[in-house]
Amino acid sequence: MPLRQPLIAPTPPSRRTGRLSNAVCAFAVLVLAACAGAVPQRPQPPPEPGGADTSVSRPWVNHPFSRGAVAASDRRAAEAGALVLARGGNAIDAAAVVQFMLNVVEPQSAGIGGGGFHLVHLARAGETFVLDSREQAPSAMTPEVFATRPEIDFSVRSTSGYAVGVPGAVLGVADLLDRAGTISLAQALEPAIRAAAEGVTVGPRLARNLAEALAPGGRLGHEPGDPAYEVARSVFAPGGRPLAAGERLIQPDLARTFRLLAEVGPAAFYDCRHELARTIVATQAASRTAIRPHGQGQLTCDDLAGYRTVLRPPIDGTYRGFSIVSVPPPSSGGVGLIQMLKMLERFPIGDREAGLGFGEPTTLQLMQDAMRLAFADRALWLGDTDRLRGLPVAGLLADDYIRLRSASCPDTDPGDGFACLEPGRRLAPPQPGDPRPFAREAALLSGAGQPPAPEESPETTHFTVVDGDGNIVTSTQTIEASWGSGLMVPGYGFLLNNQLTDFNTQPSARDDGFPDPGANDPAPLKRPRSSMTPTIVFRGGRPVAAYGSPGGATIINTVLNVTLNLIDHRMPVQQAIDAPRISLTFWDTDGTTVIEDGLSPETRRDLEGLGYRFRQGELGAVQAIVVDPLNGSVFAGADARREGWVAGLPPPSLDDHPRP
Ligand code: GLU
Repeated sequence: MPLRQPLIAPTPPSRRTGRLSNAVCAFAVLVLAACAGAVPQRPQPPPEPGGADTSVSRPWVNHPFSRGAVAASDRRAAEAGALVLARGGNAIDAAAVVQFMLNVVEPQSAGIGGGGFHLVHLARAGETFVLDSREQAPSAMTPEVFATRPEIDFSVRSTSGYAVGVPGAVLGVADLLDRAGTISLAQALEPAIRAAAEGVTVGPRLARNLAEALAPGGRLGHEPGDPAYEVARSVFAPGGRPLAAGERLIQPDLARTFRLLAEVGPAAFYDCRHELARTIVATQAASRTAIRPHGQGQLTCDDLAGYRTVLRPPIDGTYRGFSIVSVPPPSSGGVGLIQMLKMLERFPIGDREAGLGFGEPTTLQLMQDAMRLAFADRALWLGDTDRLRGLPVAGLLADDYIRLRSASCPDTDPGDGFACLEPGRRLAPPQPGDPRPFAREAALLSGAGQPPAPEESPETTHFTVVDGDGNIVTSTQTIEASWGSGLMVPGYGFLLNNQLTDFNTQPSARDDGFPDPGANDPAPLKRPRSSMTPTIVFRGGRPVAAYGSPGGATIINTVLNVTLNLIDHRMPVQQAIDAPRISLTFWDTDGTTVIEDGLSPETRRDLEGLGYRFRQGELGAVQAIVVDPLNGSVFAGADARREGWVAGLPPPSLDDHPRP
């Protein structure tokens, strides 16, 4: 079948000129069959699981949706969103419905006990904003809270009540609807109420995750007999056995909570005059045996009542003529993504003749070194800028700073610590830079910054909606780790997050001559640093792509991989998602890069020869939509690494896809 999807990158990098097929592609918006040869073919993205023909197993591939589409990590959520669009709702309405549905069908990843970020573009107003519904620390939070018992490992800390931040999701959706929706909160909850009450079929991934989580030592498997930890088990393992694929997950308590929210509104959740709010506070007081009495939940009714979402201007940066618009602190995602892109911009990524095609060793080497530089900066400088004023976000993104930060190497060996980004040579272990005097020189600091918590787990969920009028919501939502804290609010059927483990474990602030602002140290009412990176790419002021991913700290790198695939490797959207990814979140000598299946063993060997170390793994779950600027129709992609699905209008033929 000829490719008909729009490439978002109509202008190839300079060295790709003079060849007919590329010249055609340079001006084609709809991709013609002739352009297929210009899409890098080596190495190939992994084949469809089971060797299925993509056009059969993923009917949305090559399908133009002229009246909007939804990409989500679960088919039922995507279809519920598309139904809203079909009934005349806008992207904001559909996003609200998708988000509540995901709580029902993907409860391990996100839900009303968590939070996240919506990146929203309103077409008519030409307005783009971020709605921050990130969890917030209680007012009693102290910097040492996670450090007091360092011998207690992450699995204990992260499944104790003191890891629970004030959940922002309910207010997030309500505020989003108030601002730009056309349906009520009650209407947005209807499909989720039905699905929770009637039950949904457990899919293979949920079954797999449940089996792991409920095994001894698994995230839902601890403190047997403790009522606080039995609540989730009674829902997900009724009768003591984890639900298996094909069985029904029925969540009457969750349905009751949704009904309550529909009737009362967010006050039911945040106001302790309501039993739900009081029960949330009581639930997070539970702790693992090993940690009592040191680590008890400190969240109060005042903390719940005081929670507010924050409307933020997004941050943006340019990359090869595109405007990359993403999420500002308390997420480190947007800053990290834009830093990496700006560092890479001077190389003709995508040019196979220059050795910088997709999956080539030099391409991957430059990507890894850009990751190391950005993650070194992230560790020192990024956190909640509302609570810690003066963090140098503008400096981190300043062209002069980034130029110096990633300068090319001088002819003579610059020695350790000099951060030069150069093809074919592994960067010496970088230190965090100093963006404060960015106009002059990126002075190197002598400290290493705090490494990212290795435990940051690859969970969470991402969905993207574009409606027929061009409005966009691209949103990452999370309860942090898979199954969050494992504490389910009794009688109400939702899991509480463990988001506060995204703070530094050991506080790092120092002012004894070594400047470390403790950007991500725990503090009262602070939001822990996130990596979530919902992103919209604009060209000429018009959106051309929207996407994001779960994956803890690796999110930023996953979004980088996909951005390069779309812009530099000129892949259609589904291929950009399928293509194997890499991620390096450590910058020191021993940092190990996660590499997905599908990148060639020779490439890996070449890179090992330069000193990079690898481990095989899986990265993220991207749901993306690209917009054809000619007529506004959209093409979408969903990630087979999970159970991603696209639904839209008009629908592709679903003959081969009976509903689950
Ligand atoms: N807690 C992570 C963050 O905010 C998200 C969790 C994940 O994606 O695994 O960046």
